[in-house]
Amino acid sequence: MPSINQLVATKVLQLRHEHLKNITRREPKLWSEITEENEYNIITMVIPTRGCSWALSEYGGCSVCGYINDSSRDLSIPIPTILSEIETLLKKIETKKRIILKIFNSGSFFDESDVPRNLRENITKLIQKYPHCSQLSVESRSEYVINYSNIIEKTKKAIDPTILEVGIGLESSNNSILRDCWNKGMRVSDYDQAVDVLKNIGVKIKTYIFIKPPFLTEYEALIDSISTINHAVSQGTDSISINPCSVQNGTLAHYLYKKDRYQPPWLWSILFIVSNTKKKYPQIKLICEPTAGGKPRGTHNCGECDIKVLGYIKDIIDNQPIPSDYSKICSCAVRWYTLITSPIELFRTTKLSKLG
Ligand code: SF4
Ligand SMILES: [Zn+2]
Repeated sequence: MPSINQLVATKVLQLRHEHLKNITRREPKLWSEITEENEYNIITMVIPTRGCSWALSEYGGCSVCGYINDSSRDLSIPIPTILSEIETLLKKIETKKRIILKIFNSGSFFDESDVPRNLRENITKLIQKYPHCSQLSVESRSEYVINYSNIIEKTKKAIDPTILEVGIGLESSNNSILRDCWNKGMRVSDYDQAVDVLKNIGVKIKTYIFIKPPFLTEYEALIDSISTINHAVSQGTDSISINPCSVQNGTLAHYLYKKDRYQPPWLWSILFIVSNTKKKYPQIKLICEPTAGGKPRGTHNCGECDIKVLGYIKDIIDNQPIPSDYSKICSCAVRWYTLITSPIELFRTTKLSKLG
């Protein structure tokens, strides 16, 4: 039995069903892009698999996640199309640069009901043909890492010396927040166990940390994120991806947002968290590319300074200095500071007891 709060899970499931019933089904589509980072070419591909089993479960999935809206669900998966697209991209890139291949399925790569074994094994075989592919990055929930460690070990050996990186959503290191705000269906100890499994196999670990689920004030969300980063580092994560909430359709976050009871985090909070993490853990690879940054449904400030602050977040990651006094960047920093230091924050947050 996963760790859930029945009140929250029931609401998340109801909203999920209503939304999925009403959206028009589209043919599954592949999305890919090639970017460059230092000495690497990066191929990022989002493959339309059946969708996250947790989101399709009787518990409705995570309270903030709408990835299931774009998954193929019961439509057939074009495995040969996916493989041929990966191969075309691998061939296209000049071989002098090394390649990082990121395959995301918005679910779990090691969950065979989501990513069929045939697809996973054929991706592994393709990588063996392209020795300049130096890293394969995928994602998985902790339980599939724990339950299918033998498959992960096999995949790692098959693609060696290509590095295998697995991204896991820890989101929060507080079990109550995972249960009551996230409906994550896992405990912190599951993440810890999954990290141990991956470290024993020699797999690189990326940890996703989410900023501001429903029911938390800006201050609570900020403090929780900082503790969660400390936890992930203490467990031995190799990199951290900081993900501020962007409100996605069909989710509990969207339901509360429409009622004016949820506000995505301020960009100041993200700037503070990124800056704090970089100072404290310079050895950790840090990623923060906010979805819908500067837009009403994503992390934003007053509207005047959003682009500038997004630029400063990037500067911190690139080891560039930024002003330490945020109020010199924009006067709205004073509003943010007042908000996070006031004892009672009522601004567009709702308490769990008011869910309904
Ligand atoms: S956040 Fe991850 S585990 Fe949660 S519903 Fe989305 S894809 Fe599934
Ligand atoms: Zn501003």
